[in-house]
Amino acid sequence: MITFPSKQPHVQTTIFTKMSAMALEYGALNLSQGFPGFDCDPALQELLQHYSKGHNQYAPMAGVPALRQSLAAKTSSFYSIPVDTETEVTIVSGATEAIFSAVHCCVSPGDEVIMFDPSYDAYDPMVRLAGGIPVHIPLKASRNFAIDWEELARHISPRTRAIMVNSPHNPTGAVWSMADLDAFAEVVKGTKILIISDEVYEHIVFDGAQHASVLLHPELRKRSFVCGSFGKTYHITGWKMGYCIAPEFLTSEFRKLHQWVTFSSATPLQYALADYLKEPAHYLGLSDFYQKKRDLFASQFAGSAWKVLPSAGSFFQCLDYSAISSEKDVDLADRLTREIKVASIPVSVFYETDPGDKILRFCFAKDDAVLLEAAKRLVQLA
Ligand code: PMP
Ligand code: GLN
Repeated sequence: MITFPSKQPHVQTTIFTKMSAMALEYGALNLSQGFPGFDCDPALQELLQHYSKGHNQYAPMAGVPALRQSLAAKTSSFYSIPVDTETEVTIVSGATEAIFSAVHCCVSPGDEVIMFDPSYDAYDPMVRLAGGIPVHIPLKASRNFAIDWEELARHISPRTRAIMVNSPHNPTGAVWSMADLDAFAEVVKGTKILIISDEVYEHIVFDGAQHASVLLHPELRKRSFVCGSFGKTYHITGWKMGYCIAPEFLTSEFRKLHQWVTFSSATPLQYALADYLKEPAHYLGLSDFYQKKRDLFASQFAGSAWKVLPSAGSFFQCLDYSAISSEKDVDLADRLTREIKVASIPVSVFYETDPGDKILRFCFAKDDAVLLEAAKRLVQLA
């Protein structure tokens, strides 16, 4: 038998793969893995069909110029900042690749990378694969998962290479304010620390708030890889299209990595998006669209033993079940999928050390009828 030492001996298949497979197996309503339960705009499908003729060879390594231009123009007008198409924008195969390439182009063996738990499942293994040391700072449900900036400052060492941040936050739906950007800038000012900012839910921010992108703060922007995804904004998670916006000195290192990961991303998809991005209505209505779904889903739990936690952005709603069961969240998520046929994601898997919270994450990017039926089953349980 051929054997070799696993590079990731403790890594298992992701919770998203596991719970979506269970949902399929048990015929459950799948509110686990985060993806829309509805299709994208037919106009975008038509654009793809159009560009599938004559645009089927390799795209330029950094991305099709038309898409980089559309993205630079969109980002520039949305945040009122200049963005350089040539030197600051790279198109990649999903935010997953953007984060991977950002980590691997700057993290060397022994470098520390700070992340806040619950942290998106890909961050820690990506840092370890680069030889880096993940430094986890746990956030507390009792503080609505807000960051304690003094605690962050205490975790910085001479070996800190980068800090990974994510707002709107998966899995909690916590969202940074402009004051958070200022506080963050105070912590990193005068250091050589880089920032990897995962902003895939930038257009899903509720209750009239504006997305506090690190792009808006010069002290942060000058050291940040901003990782984005077209999947969340345009209901096309299956296209696996994303991007990285970063200053020139970071973009040039980022592209050196990206060229070895995928070299370039799917050409016809890039052309279709280049046209589609030009219409602001395609993303400006997204927050309202999802806020209605959040409110519909959350309102179903009024008067029940489920406790609805705040969701200020993203398409996730966390529910606390401590008044219902003492089971571990991984066990309850399993049981709910099998017994009442509603699949969710246990939040503890996003922690290095399980805080023992009793919280499940539900994706509300689903048709209203699905949300109502799922909520009905959950309330009956309580
Ligand atoms: N970061 C976060 C916080 C996410 O939720 C996701 C996917 N849902 C990604 C990154 C990956 O995005 P993509 O599908 O574009 O690779
Ligand atoms: N980001 C999605 C979620 O949080 C899942 C993406 C994936 O399955 N890798 O559910």
